[in-house]
Amino acid sequence: MQLEDGQYRIQGLDVLEICEQFGSPLFIYDADMIRYKYEKMVKAFDGLNCKIKYPVKALSNLSILKLMRKLGAGLDTVSLQEARLGLKAGFQPEEIIFTPNCVSFEEIQEAVSMGLVINIDNISILEQFGHAYGDSVPCCIRFNPHIFAGGNSKIQVGHIDSKFGISVFQRRHVERIVKSENINVVGLHVHTGSDILDARAYLQSANIMFDLAREFEGLEFIDFGSGFKVGYKEGDVTTNVEEIGEQLRTAYADFCKDYGKEIEIWFEPGKYMVSESGYFMMKSNVIKPTPSTVFVGVDSGLNHFIRPMMYGGFHDIFNASNPSGTQRIYTVVGYICETDTFGWDRKLNEVREGDILCLKNAGAYGYSMSSNYNSRFRPAEVMVYEGKAHLIRKRETMDDLMRNQVEIEL
Ligand SMILES: *Cc1c(COP(=O)(O)O)cnc(C)c1O
Repeated sequence: MQLEDGQYRIQGLDVLEICEQFGSPLFIYDADMIRYKYEKMVKAFDGLNCKIKYPVKALSNLSILKLMRKLGAGLDTVSLQEARLGLKAGFQPEEIIFTPNCVSFEEIQEAVSMGLVINIDNISILEQFGHAYGDSVPCCIRFNPHIFAGGNSKIQVGHIDSKFGISVFQRRHVERIVKSENINVVGLHVHTGSDILDARAYLQSANIMFDLAREFEGLEFIDFGSGFKVGYKEGDVTTNVEEIGEQLRTAYADFCKDYGKEIEIWFEPGKYMVSESGYFMMKSNVIKPTPSTVFVGVDSGLNHFIRPMMYGGFHDIFNASNPSGTQRIYTVVGYICETDTFGWDRKLNEVREGDILCLKNAGAYGYSMSSNYNSRFRPAEVMVYEGKAHLIRKRETMDDLMRNQVEIEL
């Protein structure tokens, strides 16, 4: 989004007009930004035989998935429903990796029958998988290298207490099962958590994986997961994908020479791909000065965008309706009957009741984590694609809230 002749615009379109057309609150995604990020990443990982598996959970709208497919990505899914959305968007099952956590073996069987790439996360399932399929169905194994990385304890998944993956210290046990059950392991996976700050942490886990890979014959890929950090505010350190690519190239070339084969390297960037493409537009309902601060109460809350409240995530906010207004300090809060603060002490151009505020970095884990708490409707979603604003999800209505309710006679 850019300020051009006094108006905030996406691909030349006035965002206030988009809000007027589709209502508020509203998620707007800029398809050009997603394309830019995809191409930047593919370029950074040139020479690595790289494949991008976009994690559906970040932003699961069908039209976004179709865009990912058009760009050339595959998908990373954590539930059968996500995989079905992927199939609906036109992906082939073999382009979809299924990386669930602590699901029943029945769910794994269902994923096998759908033809997905199965990623196994614990020894119990690995045993059952070997017992049921032997070498007839290939699989990938998720390891936990215990690298410390990640911004918030809720999104650190590589540490020793983490429930994710099979510990690298259990590699012998894994090898025993693979050998006795004759399991066809075609991939190794690692996802050390979100918000990895530096290339070194990446390389460290990459080296552990390359080392591990030498003990498996017949690998076709190593999936390095994600953890790519994006900037939320001015001056934030972001993951330098070019630097990671540069450092990985040497390690990869050495590995392939040893291994005797050029395997594929997969990445699963969620935030990196979609966070910055998204803007969450909210309307200021009331300006409420109190003895300690001036609150701006907006027509949204933690039901629509929970990252600030759940993870303490910082999201930049600006007043899209008054770009040249005097700057004042505000605290932006939601309308939910619970404390739901989008941002404390934010310097915004003077906010008047009825102004449209824009919350940035709203593409990832925004809509996909929204709920109907307080029986509010979920917002609509719009994608700006090739210079045009397309509605890609309708705002909910009372019918949506009632759909599955069963009224009994009392
Ligand atoms: C959530 C998740 C991702 C995406 O993480 P981001 O921080 O959004 O890039 C990738 N892979 C797996 C297995 C995940 O669970």
